[in-house]
Amino acid sequence: MREIRCGKCNRLLAKGEALDLAIKCPRCGAINHVRATSLNSEGSRAPGKEPSHDKNRQGL
Ligand SMILES: [Zn+2]
Repeated sequence: MREIRCGKCNRLLAKGEALDLAIKCPRCGAINHVRATSLNSEGSRAPGKEPSHDKNRQGL
């Protein structure tokens, strides 16, 4: 479980998982935007490993 803390005063605001959330700190009044960061989707393409069996397709 993850702790969500105020970015200003570091007060604990909530516990758990948040995908996309705005929560106001009752102590200092700062609005904290929380977003899930550790999602390892997207951005992991196969490293440039393309077999180039593309021999002279343009005629000649
Ligand atoms: Zn705060």
